[in-house]
Amino acid sequence: MLRIATFPPGTGDLHTPSRDCACCGARYPVRRRGMRLLSGDSLEGDICPECVLQGPAGAAARIRGRLLTLDDPGGDTVGGEDRTPWVQRMMRRARLLEETPSFSLVARQAAARETRERR
Ligand SMILES: [Zn+2]
Repeated sequence: MLRIATFPPGTGDLHTPSRDCACCGARYPVRRRGMRLLSGDSLEGDICPECVLQGPAGAAARIRGRLLTLDDPGGDTVGGEDRTPWVQRMMRRARLLEETPSFSLVARQAAARETRERR
């Protein structure tokens, strides 16, 4: 089960800090509130507002979708690079999300504000 912690974007940083979503992989700007996925007290990764608004099941589906686009998900190496740890991390993350009933109201409201300001 995962939960979301919100945090203010970098203080004293004039340009908008960018983050990589741990679910869909998109690079996105943090405007007012950044969001992170926590498993207990350990950081799982950043999560973008779109994934928060999709809910845990939707975010898990995005992870599974990324895994499906790998030509050989069971393969050990790609271009000599070992990606097994990454795949295992992603699969574990999807499983944790699927065990999460919903994201907190605070997180969903923050995500709705972030996407609204982007338009
Ligand atoms: Zn995302």
